[in-house]
Amino acid sequence: MKRDFGTLGSIELLHADGDEAHIADIAGVCVGREMDARERPKLIRHLLDSGHMTPFEFCNITLLVECPLFVRSQWHRHRSWAYNEMSRRHIDASNARFYTPTNLRYDHRLSVREACDEAMSHYRRLVQDGVPMEQARMVLPQNMLTVFAARTSLRHALDFLRLRCSSHAQGEIRTFAMALVDLLEPRYPTVMRWFTEQEV
Ligand SMILES: Cc1cc2nc3c(=O)[nH]c(=O)nc-3n(C[C@H](O)[C@H](O)[C@H](O)COP(=O)(O)OP(=O)(O)OC[C@H]3O[C@@H](n4cnc5c(N)ncnc54)[C@H](O)[C@@H]3O)c2cc1C
Repeated sequence: MKRDFGTLGSIELLHADGDEAHIADIAGVCVGREMDARERPKLIRHLLDSGHMTPFEFCNITLLVECPLFVRSQWHRHRSWAYNEMSRRHIDASNARFYTPTNLRYDHRLSVREACDEAMSHYRRLVQDGVPMEQARMVLPQNMLTVFAARTSLRHALDFLRLRCSSHAQGEIRTFAMALVDLLEPRYPTVMRWFTEQEV
C-alpha cells in the first residue's frame, strides 16, 4: 500500500506483522486467559486508554519513505525506529528529485526550482571536476528527496503519530504521518479509530 505526494515524495507500507487478535492474545497473558474475539475491541481501547502499551510492541511495521532531507531529519529523531537510508556517498545525485511546492507558506518571489537547478549545476560541475560525491553533495539543498526504509513497533508508531499528526508539527511531515494513519487502519482498525478520536 502506497501514498504519493507529488514532488514531496511517497510512503509505502512494505510489511506489517501481528494484528489486533495478536495484541489481544498478548494482553490476555496478563490475566491468564484467552480473549474472546467479541471482547477484543473493548480490550484494545482499554489498553490504549490506560496506557498499557507493551502489547502493541508485539506488532511491527516496515515502511519505505521518499521525502525531502529536512523531513528525514525530523523523522530520524524518533530513535525507537530502525532506519536504512540511501547513501549519497555512493549514489550519484545528478538525477535527484526536489520538493518544489507551487505555493510557499509565505508569498515570495524566489523560485525554489531555480535555486535547485543552480545547486544541481554546481554539484554536477564538482563531480565532473573529480570531487568525490560524498563531498560534492554538500552544495545540494534540504528539499532534495532521499529514500529510507524504516521499521518500528506499533507502540512507537503511535508515539510518532501523536507528535507528527499534531498541529505543532511541520506541515510536510504531518502529510506523511496522516497518510500513515490511513495505511495502518486496515490492519489495526480499532487502534487507528481510537487514535483519530484523540485530540493531538
Ligand atoms: C513539534 C516538534 C518540534 C520539535 N523541535 C525540535 C527542535 O527544535 N530541536 C530538536 O532537537 N528536536 C526537536 N523535536 C524532536 C523531539 O525533541 C524528539 O526528539 C522527537 O519528537 C522524537 O521523540 P521521542 O524522543 O519521544 O522519540 P524516540 O526517540 O522514538 O523515543 C521514544 C521514547 O523512548 C525514550 N527514549 C529514547 N531515547 C532516549 C534517551 N536517550 N534517553 C531517555 N529516554 C529515551 C523516551 O521515553 C522517548 O519518549 C521536535 C519534535 C516535535 C514533534
